[in-house]
Amino acid sequence: MAFEAVIGLEVHAQLSTRSKIFCACSAAFGASPNENTCPVCTGMPGVLPVLNRRAVEYTIRTAIATSSTVQRRSVFARKNYFYPDLPKAYQISQYELPIALGGHIDIETGNGPKRIGITRIHMEEDAGKLVHEGEFAGAQASLADLNRCSVPLMEIVSEPDMRTPEEGGAYLRRLHDILVYLGVCDGNMEEGSFRCDANVSVRPAGQESFGTKAELKNMNSFRNVEKALEYEIRRQIERIEDGGKVVQETRLWDANAGVTVAMRRKEEAHDYRYFPDPDLLPLIVDESWVEELRKTIPELPAEKIARLERQYGIPRYDAGILAADRALADFFEASAAIYGGNPKTTANECVHWKDAVFSGALSPETIAHAVEDRERGTISATASKKLVELVLSTGKPFRTLRDEQGLTQVSDASALDVIVEKILAASPKEVESYRGGKVGLLSFFVGQVMRESRGKANPKVVQEVLKRKLG
Ligand code: ADP
Ligand code: ZN
Ligand code: MG
Repeated sequence: MAFEAVIGLEVHAQLSTRSKIFCACSAAFGASPNENTCPVCTGMPGVLPVLNRRAVEYTIRTAIATSSTVQRRSVFARKNYFYPDLPKAYQISQYELPIALGGHIDIETGNGPKRIGITRIHMEEDAGKLVHEGEFAGAQASLADLNRCSVPLMEIVSEPDMRTPEEGGAYLRRLHDILVYLGVCDGNMEEGSFRCDANVSVRPAGQESFGTKAELKNMNSFRNVEKALEYEIRRQIERIEDGGKVVQETRLWDANAGVTVAMRRKEEAHDYRYFPDPDLLPLIVDESWVEELRKTIPELPAEKIARLERQYGIPRYDAGILAADRALADFFEASAAIYGGNPKTTANECVHWKDAVFSGALSPETIAHAVEDRERGTISATASKKLVELVLSTGKPFRTLRDEQGLTQVSDASALDVIVEKILAASPKEVESYRGGKVGLLSFFVGQVMRESRGKANPKVVQEVLKRKLG
C-alpha cells in the first residue's frame, strides 16, 4: 500500500527587540547568567507586566508579510505549569484569541510553486534555561539562568499542508528568510532564535482523513528537521504495515543516532488551565496602525526571486540562491549595476565569494571588474580567481593588482599569431595528423600555446587562431 505523509510545522521565532516583552531588561543573547533579569521577568509578587510595543509591531509586520489577518482584539493568557526555569509558574501567551489568523506563504517545490496555509500567529514570552553543572549533596546540580525569561517570541503555526520532508524544509527556509528580510528575527538557529516543532502523520494514499500525528522536537537546523521527518515517516509506515498503530505522542530527535525517541504520550500531556491574564488588557490594534506598518514591508523573497529572474534574465534557481539572503541579492544588483555584461556570470561570482560578501571584505566593484575583465578577455578565469584572492588578502583594488601582477591575458590575435606559428612549426607530425582528420589534436596545440605564453594567452582566441591556421 502506498502512504502519504501529512506535515504541519510550529515555529518559535525570537523577536529582535532590544528589550524583553513585558519589562525593560535586555533581550540580548550571551549575557552572563541572570544578568538580564528584574523583579518582573523573575516573577516576583506584586509586579506588573507592560507590553513592548515594538514586539507587537514586529508581529503585525510578520502577519502582513504572510498575508494573515491581523485581529482587532487579541488577548494574553496564562499557560500554567511548574518548571524551575519558570519562576512565575505560568507563561504569558495568547491562546483563544491570537493576534493574527489565516495567512499563507508560497514555497518552491519539485513540482512548481505551492501555497502553505498559516493557521495562526501569536505572541508569547520565553522561559529561562537550566544548566546542569556541578554537584549538590552528592547529586547532579542544576542551575537556573533566567536571562531568557520574558524574551519575546512569536509562534507561527502552519496548516497541515506539507506532504514531504522537502516541502517542510522549503517552508521553513522561506519563512526564515521572510523574518530575516523583515528584520523581526535574526534567524540564528544555533542560538535558538528560530526553532521548529514538526507534526507528522501518515495515511494511505487517497484517504482523506488524517492519521494520528506525532510531534517532533529538538531539531536545530533545517537539515535536521528534514532528517527527523524522513525517519519518522518511515517509522510510522513500518508500524502500520506491521499491523500496529501510531500513537499520539511527543518524540525527541536524536541527531547523533538519527532517530526519534518517544518522550511523552498524549495522556501525559499537561493541562495548562489557560485563562486570560488579569494583569494585561486585551490588545487592540486599529486598522490605521496596520496600514502604517504595511508601508514598512520590504520586497520579500518570493517577489525578489521573480524580479531578479525577469530583470536580469538569470535562471530562477540562481535567483533563489541570491534572494535567500537579502545582502547577497543587494550585492549582486550593485555589481550588475557597475558592469552589466552577462548577469549569470556575475551571479555565479557573487555566490562563489559569498562568505567574503557577508563579511564585508569584498566590494561590488571587485566582482564587476573581475567579470568585465574576463568577459572582455583581458584576464583568464584562473587569473580572475587569483586576483580576487589577492584583493581579499591585500585590500588593493582589483585592477591595480591585475596590472602589478602582469596577469593581463593576451587576446590580441596578431600577438598570438607568432606563438601559434612557432608551435605549429615545431610539431609537423601533429599538424599532418590534424589535417588528416584527427581534430581532437586541437587541445594538444592549445595546451602547447598556453604553455609557451606562460598561461597568459586567451584560450578562446588561441583556438580561433589555431583553427584558422590549421584549416
Ligand atoms: P495540538 O492541539 O496537538 O497542538 P493543533 O491542532 O494545534 O494540535 O496542531 C498543531 C500542528 O499540528 C499544526 O501545525 C497542524 O497543522 C499540525 N497537525 C494537526 N493535525 C495533524 C495531523 N494529523 N498530521 C500532521 N500534522 C497535523
Ligand atoms: Zn526583566
Ligand atoms: Mg497546538
